[in-house]
Amino acid sequence: MARCAVLILAGGSGSRLGSEIPKQYLNLNGLSVLRRTIDAFLAHPGIEAVQVVIGAQDRERYDNAIGDADIRPPVSGGASRQESGRNGLEALADDAPDYVLIHDAARPFADSATIDRVLHALETSDAALPCVPVADTLKRGTGTPPLVDGTVDRTNLWRAQTPQGFRYAKILDAHRACEGMEFTDDAAIAEHAGLSVALVRGHEDNFKITTADDLERAKRMTENTSGDFRIGTGFDVHAQTDGDHVVLCGIRIDHSRGLEGHSDADVAMHAVTDALLGAIAEGDIGSHFPPSDDQWRGAASRVFLEHAGKLISKRGGSIGNIDLTIICEAPKIGPHRDAMAASLATILGIDQGRISVKATTSEKLGFTGRGEGIAAQASAIVRLG
Ligand code: MG
Repeated sequence: MARCAVLILAGGSGSRLGSEIPKQYLNLNGLSVLRRTIDAFLAHPGIEAVQVVIGAQDRERYDNAIGDADIRPPVSGGASRQESGRNGLEALADDAPDYVLIHDAARPFADSATIDRVLHALETSDAALPCVPVADTLKRGTGTPPLVDGTVDRTNLWRAQTPQGFRYAKILDAHRACEGMEFTDDAAIAEHAGLSVALVRGHEDNFKITTADDLERAKRMTENTSGDFRIGTGFDVHAQTDGDHVVLCGIRIDHSRGLEGHSDADVAMHAVTDALLGAIAEGDIGSHFPPSDDQWRGAASRVFLEHAGKLISKRGGSIGNIDLTIICEAPKIGPHRDAMAASLATILGIDQGRISVKATTSEKLGFTGRGEGIAAQASAIVRLG
């Protein structure tokens, strides 16, 4: 069987969506666009290696986006898509495959039947290009505002997609020979080099996320009502002590007393963190950040919560919701609920609508009723896979 690698081009800065984050790193229902793209190829038995080409400035984003995907380390791209493609091809040279597929990172829905058709065509052609027919009538417009000045014959016209497949040695040679020239895709480089390019059927769902509408469509397509749901609970207590404020969910609240603790004593954030860790059976705050370790003395508790969030995303998981109850007579929580939920949402990178912050008194009963301490309990749902 021919050995086949896939090159995923993720160097683009994709500013058309109005997001500061390049579109390949945006989150689609718990997994990044890039990770979904990678998974589409890892799931295909004909693909032996996955090589991603990234913008040099995006290494941290890349690491967060791919999680535990077991693939070759990324290589840095160039100033243009073409240069990035060439860098990626050169990176594969030390263990040259027979075939290479070159794919846009922002197409997370490459289907295995399309990949099959591309690979099959490479048995008899130097290159293979998945395409979909042009279904709409094509018009030429000129002027501002534009007026129709003709109908374009759409016979034999196709829209090109990726993954575009190539015999590796031939496309590497063609790329090297085209250095300095500009082409819009790799198939055009193959055409220029005189290679035979077979046209195979692509799929309408294998679209490139370019506009905000595309992103919405991709979100709808990845909505998942089934999955491996995990529930976790967290409970914490900190004693009240001398002081003039408490910190709850990262929000500083003036109070006649403070809270005692090794870190910033954010009892509410600790309960939430333990709920998340509990949902994925990863122990509790103390097992990740031992109180015996001096480096966590006075630490901001957001460090703990961020860590729990990262452990979940590393496993491809997402947070369904968090429900937090703070138990105390004072300070009053109500005026700060929104700010607290917003703070948790920001730290975890999830919608605030998934977070509920509530408070109750214990009717002056027990240690919370006597003002000796503040308690908090939380539950969370995490979906894995
Ligand atoms: Mg605690």
